[in-house]
Amino acid sequence: MKRFFTLTLLLIISICATAQKTQVVAHRGYWDTPNNAQNSITALKTAQAIPVYGSEFDVNMTSDGVMVVSHGPKLEEIPDVQKATYKEVQKVRLKNGEKVPTLKQYLKQGKKGNIRLIFELKVHPTGEIENEAVRKSAEMVKKLNLSSNEVEFISFSLEACKQLAELMPGYMVQYLNGKIPPKELKEMGIMGLDYHFSNFVQHPEWVKQAHDLGMIVNVWTVNKEEMMQQMIDLGVDYITTDKPELCLKLIQQK
Ligand code: MG
Repeated sequence: MKRFFTLTLLLIISICATAQKTQVVAHRGYWDTPNNAQNSITALKTAQAIPVYGSEFDVNMTSDGVMVVSHGPKLEEIPDVQKATYKEVQKVRLKNGEKVPTLKQYLKQGKKGNIRLIFELKVHPTGEIENEAVRKSAEMVKKLNLSSNEVEFISFSLEACKQLAELMPGYMVQYLNGKIPPKELKEMGIMGLDYHFSNFVQHPEWVKQAHDLGMIVNVWTVNKEEMMQQMIDLGVDYITTDKPELCLKLIQQK
């Protein structure tokens, strides 16, 4: 009996220790594999097949109001995806021959896996257009019944972050443009920082400050082993990377 309790205690301790470990987010899906492409359904499926925390993807709205998964502004032969119609976007083929996924198609595939969908809403040219993109993003997530355990939002637009935090209570929203200290972000209702690694090299104290405030720290886009190690040692919650398997290996070694 005593042995059973000791083993149970050890198990609980190891689960707690694992929970605190840095986790990995595949940047634009796990696209760096054969016959794959960034922000493609295949890249999402590949990410869903490895033990990452989540998979990041970029969302833009076309000129006729269709939400599509693409980094932009350039999309193969189209100079600016936000100025193109959906019909024009549909003609594009990604590097692996796939079509550009709509947000709906992408989220439907996301629902089939058990990793988080890290939804980056891109900055749009005017406040009015961006408001529409925010509203459509929130509507689609709700329509497909994707919970706050399935979707997290990130954006370089502070206004979009504020609106998403308001429209989607309970969902994690992380601001991408790394100049705002954690406390100021929290005061705006934004509970996560997702900053370029250079911001945490300059302000390592922001990681602890954010954690003390109950906030989440994500870092982009870390592809070099040395910087991955530095960020793991700093105790960030997630590392967003184009090399998810390398990052997973480093975390396991720790
Ligand atoms: Mg992105």
